[in-house]
Amino acid sequence: MGLDKFRLDGKVAVVTGGTRGIGLAIAQALGEAGARIVISARTPVPEAEKVLSDAGVNFDLIEADMRDEGAADRLIMEVVAKTGGVDVLVNNAGVAIHGDSGDFEDETWRKIMSLNVDAVFRTCRAALAPMRVQGSGVILNIGSISGIVSNIPQNQVAYNSSKAAVHMMTKSLASELAAENIRVNAIAPGYIETDMSRGGIANPEWFPIWRGMTPMGRVGQPEEVATAALFLCSPASSYVTGEVLVVDGGYTTR
Ligand code: NDP
Repeated sequence: MGLDKFRLDGKVAVVTGGTRGIGLAIAQALGEAGARIVISARTPVPEAEKVLSDAGVNFDLIEADMRDEGAADRLIMEVVAKTGGVDVLVNNAGVAIHGDSGDFEDETWRKIMSLNVDAVFRTCRAALAPMRVQGSGVILNIGSISGIVSNIPQNQVAYNSSKAAVHMMTKSLASELAAENIRVNAIAPGYIETDMSRGGIANPEWFPIWRGMTPMGRVGQPEEVATAALFLCSPASSYVTGEVLVVDGGYTTR
């Protein structure tokens, strides 16, 4: 028993939204552990490609808007064509939009649900075929503390609902697929410093509340989620499935 349980040599890992923030850090961590990485996003980001190249990660980028109905199937087909299989799928791409419920437009609700919920399910479903052929697989969905508590001060009914759905989807799939040697887990991050949270961190009305609600008194860094992701995507977590691992500096203890 040792650190080799955290290795992913010879494995193929797909990370949606792998060009920035948490997704890029996860792609780097899995890649440094030996996996061949495929990241996907709507737009290529040269800085991300440099980060991965500098870290010695073997990677490809596939452009995809995961909101498109056929995107999940196309992405997985393309990955299989390029690499021969899918060992690890990380459903990370997501969007957060705030707003008071009384004025929350259908269109905004759909924008969130189509990416945070529909695309996550479709990509899990698409990955099942290659994982079944291989006789194994690991899925990691990125949820949020917002799927567990209604964090304040911002109102975000759709985002919170979408992340609660991700957590329950994770548990349902884990239960259904365990006998097929396919593990499904989630991470529920607290506030992590990325493009998504930058506006809130800079907001003098929000950030003192975010910090005050977090026992560790700071936001997290993408790398602090990526190390948890490596645990859940590697054989180190071989007896863990259906778990929603909270990485939040203690936010949900209050
Ligand atoms: P960022 O906004 O920094 O990055 C989002 C990534 O997803 C980018 O690579 C982006 O690339 C991609 N993406 C966005 N929309 C689409 C789309 N329609 N199709 C394909 N890819 C898309 O987000 P974070 O790194 O902060 O968040 C990552 C995940 O973590 C999300 O699920 C988020 O909800 C969750 N999370 C984040 C927290 C935080 O505090 N940051 C806290 C809790 C959870 P592009 O725009 O080019 O498509």
